[in-house]
Amino acid sequence: MANLDDLLGADNPLYEKRKGVYPKAVSGFFRRFKWAIMAITLSIYYITPWLRWDRGPHAPNQAVLVDLANRRFYMFNIEIWPHEFYYVVGLLVMAGIGLFLVTSAVGRAWCGYACPQTVWTDLFQHVDRFVDGDRNAQIRLEKAPWGPEKIFKRLAKWSIYLFIAFWTGGAWIMYFADAPTLTVDFWTGQAAPVAYATVGVLTATTFIFGGFMREQVCVYMCPWPRIQTAMMDEKSLIVTYRDWRGEPRGSVKKAEAQPGAFGDCIDCNQCVAVCPTGIDIREGPQIGCITCALCIDACDSVMEQIGRPRGLIDYLTLDDVATEKAGGTAHPTLKTLFRPRTIIYFGIWSAIGLAMLFTLGQRTRLDLTVQHDRNPLYVQLSDGSIRNNYTVKVRNMETRQRKVALVIKNFPGAVAWTTTGSRETASDRIELSVAPDTVQKVRLFVVAPAEGPARTDFDIQAEALTGNEKGDSDSVRFERPEAGQ
Ligand code: SF4
Ligand code: SF4
Repeated sequence: MANLDDLLGADNPLYEKRKGVYPKAVSGFFRRFKWAIMAITLSIYYITPWLRWDRGPHAPNQAVLVDLANRRFYMFNIEIWPHEFYYVVGLLVMAGIGLFLVTSAVGRAWCGYACPQTVWTDLFQHVDRFVDGDRNAQIRLEKAPWGPEKIFKRLAKWSIYLFIAFWTGGAWIMYFADAPTLTVDFWTGQAAPVAYATVGVLTATTFIFGGFMREQVCVYMCPWPRIQTAMMDEKSLIVTYRDWRGEPRGSVKKAEAQPGAFGDCIDCNQCVAVCPTGIDIREGPQIGCITCALCIDACDSVMEQIGRPRGLIDYLTLDDVATEKAGGTAHPTLKTLFRPRTIIYFGIWSAIGLAMLFTLGQRTRLDLTVQHDRNPLYVQLSDGSIRNNYTVKVRNMETRQRKVALVIKNFPGAVAWTTTGSRETASDRIELSVAPDTVQKVRLFVVAPAEGPARTDFDIQAEALTGNEKGDSDSVRFERPEAGQ
């Protein structure tokens, strides 16, 4: 049976066979910027788990830690408990709006500079140059038959890939446990199986995605380029070839022979040779362009060498393209960056950030939840009064032991006691001692006179006697028998 490729014909296959990409080394402003971003992002990734932060004896001293076993997220002096997950949601919303902001201002800058796929691919491409040499040497070696040199170089290169990939996975697990302890446990075979499995999976994915799939991840697998296209508009900066200035293409020699017949592009192909995704930006905007701007560096250096103005390839908006084609001048970059849309995004992003900072500063470190026993709803005591039972969870989110008072509010005549007290010692204020960084469960018995409405809503307030903090309070219901029962 004929497959789809047969039906489409040999010249028009469904999938294009991958052409090898061997980007040439380039220097210039954007290359230096990429180096800086790579150094910063990789340093943050590898160093962060080793930073220490003193939180006292009852909490871990790792500055950034996702403590899954104890269900805590630590980030320097911020500690997030499971019931405060909305802060993590807030951070994710900020990250989303941040991407909207960056994309609407400078197109796919995230893809070009900071995406892990880009950073690791860039790193692996430097490994290629280190082992095989620059572009031409890489192409020669790729075409050469297998022999001792090729086998040695391939083994050397893949070993370095594997080393980097292993440390990528190795660094990741350090975010989930105390890094020094986990390192010792890992190498002595005492770490949890999930740690070895995670390192194995991340080593394999980094090795394959960064070492071999590279630009194919961006072009075929990642949904982000499609989403970004919807976020950009005619005022977003994208890497653009000034075809109205560069075409028709012709070498310097031809241009000298026929003055005025050719544009500024000398068809040297340097912009294509340095492109990490192997595309030709002169064919117009395309999904393979991650806007890393290395082609700008390459073309600018060619223009300098032949004494023509820089900027044949440049960051330009679609509006600027139309303006320049009509003989006008592009808007200043600052004006392009600060426009209503980006200012609105920035306003929303900052508002969420400030709101989170404000609530983090205001949040109480003493929290409580109260649950009313449903069966029985109430008990009539021998003196005729009515008792309701509750399960109270008191969270002491500080790393010190604290004395806490549970206070009955808005319920005159009601008193309470716990399993350590009795009806005789009942009061509208119960004191307990809560261990650091724990949730203490307390059975609370509340008693009130039989006379009164069938349902009374009241509050139980937690007050920290150590530190004098007014803690959380919870509204609950007190039930009495219905009249006539
Ligand atoms: S680097 Fe510049 S001059 Fe050379 S081919 Fe590309 S656009 Fe033309
Ligand atoms: S075309 Fe230029 S900006 Fe786009 S990916 Fe290639 S080098 Fe980077």
